[in-house]
Amino acid sequence: MRGASLVRALHDLLGPAKVLGTHDELLIYEYDGAVDTATPDAVALPETTADVSALARFCHEHAVPIVPRGAGTGLSGGAIPVEGGVVVSFARMARILEIDPENLRAVVQPGVVNLHLSTATAPYGLHFVPDPSSQKACTLGGNVAENSGGPHTLAYGVTTNHVTGLEIVLSDGSVVRLGGKAIEDEGYDLVGTFVGSEGTLGIVTEITVKLTPLPEEKRTLMAAFATMDAASETVSSIIAAGIVPSAIEMMDQLATEAVEAAVHAGYPLDAGGILLVEVDGARDGLDEQLARIERICRSHQATTIRLATTAIERERLWAGRKGAFAAMGRLSPDYYVQDGVIPRTRLPDILRLVKAAGERHGLRVANVFHAGDGNLHPLLLFDARKGPEGLERAKEAGLEILTACIEAGGSLTGEHGVGMEKNCYMPLQFTSADLAAMRRVKDAFDPAGLANPGKIFPTPSRCREFALGARS
Ligand SMILES: Cc1cc2nc3c(=O)[nH]c(=O)nc-3n(C[C@H](O)[C@H](O)[C@H](O)COP(=O)(O)OP(=O)(O)OC[C@H]3O[C@@H](n4cnc5c(N)ncnc54)[C@H](O)[C@@H]3O)c2cc1C
Repeated sequence: MRGASLVRALHDLLGPAKVLGTHDELLIYEYDGAVDTATPDAVALPETTADVSALARFCHEHAVPIVPRGAGTGLSGGAIPVEGGVVVSFARMARILEIDPENLRAVVQPGVVNLHLSTATAPYGLHFVPDPSSQKACTLGGNVAENSGGPHTLAYGVTTNHVTGLEIVLSDGSVVRLGGKAIEDEGYDLVGTFVGSEGTLGIVTEITVKLTPLPEEKRTLMAAFATMDAASETVSSIIAAGIVPSAIEMMDQLATEAVEAAVHAGYPLDAGGILLVEVDGARDGLDEQLARIERICRSHQATTIRLATTAIERERLWAGRKGAFAAMGRLSPDYYVQDGVIPRTRLPDILRLVKAAGERHGLRVANVFHAGDGNLHPLLLFDARKGPEGLERAKEAGLEILTACIEAGGSLTGEHGVGMEKNCYMPLQFTSADLAAMRRVKDAFDPAGLANPGKIFPTPSRCREFALGARS
């Protein structure tokens, strides 16, 4: 069932106030933060788990794809209904259900915005650690689905390390509880399986997360270098010295130009590379750690070192980093962001390769990324108003960069997920046996293949042109 008849049937099932179906209403759900688009047949706005369950059961009976959506900030097309069907928005399931400071847990609905949770738990001296740069908008449901990271996951781990329980609606409508508040559960780690499954195994309707005490103190340092090589080598030296800062972020000159125009974070415009390094924890020993980092920066000929001495200065430095993607509008009407991972020590040569790939395809490339994790984010700038070839060139350069990441011993996504952007590239990293094993997990939870179809796994209709062939 599709189109107008599907919208009418959903009106009967959920009531018209929970269903969108006109052309104009559907337009906004064609997009997420990435570059691909597709129009849903209908959008559902459930208010309870029972609504989601009824919807899933209906979709199962009528063979309708079901695509969960949080805030739509995803960068791999995960929330795009590439095979049509119903998009399920969690905008109305956005309540914090419980804050349990004694057990360091919170229970939330999937539509809760990431930053809102830490704001609500701050009076208890607690926070939710994973802090994607999109944290003012992205939802916990999206974070769970993408196993999102952020600047501060270098020392504290990504979303999977901070989720202990989930309520799931499977694609046949059954409601399943996995894990809970306890740190460990018997049997298979199905919470771990669901985190990062990008909505392809089922729909998350409730999340139990770990809360972490706010650090007693933080110290944030900005160091500028003449070249990206010097900045990259500094990152390796800091880690090699046995220091694990809570964050090490890097930005190149083009990214700095955009950020300064938009945010005025105070980064030097003449720097070839900039590092933002943060250490946190107990007050004792923090200054000593910072002094060691400063010495390492100087030994790599840092041209400027600035320490944030007030909370406002610290916020300003972070506003620059966290606003970097949005600031790209100062340089170009469109960008295509890549998300590859490499071993940290390979940063200098891969960054050179990124630059060369951009030049080869006639594109400017800005870099702003989680350097401590070796998680690259080249932003390939193009102008879609000039025609489709800008995006095509950006995708070609992106594929070259990802191939180099994999050859360097890394992977094709660090935190943005596979979605519909990289499903055709999966054979670059995985053998056909690897993919078949993953497929069997998908089939066990979603035998009808209705949970976010067209994501993660290569599909014949979209991937034929790549003909990459799985590794043997
Ligand atoms: C400016 C900017 C900066 C970013 N910075 C970072 C960063 O630092 N780190 C990082 O990891 N990511 C980052 N991202 C990517 C993105 O914000 C994250 O992937 C985020 O977790 C997506 O959340 P969302 O609510 O927007 O999800 P959406 O984009 O709506 O959906 C993402 C995926 O989650 C699935 N999904 C959503 N809700 C549910 C649910 N309830 N049940 C099952 N599946 C669900 C969707 O089907 C889709 O596959 C950034 C994005 C932008 C635009």
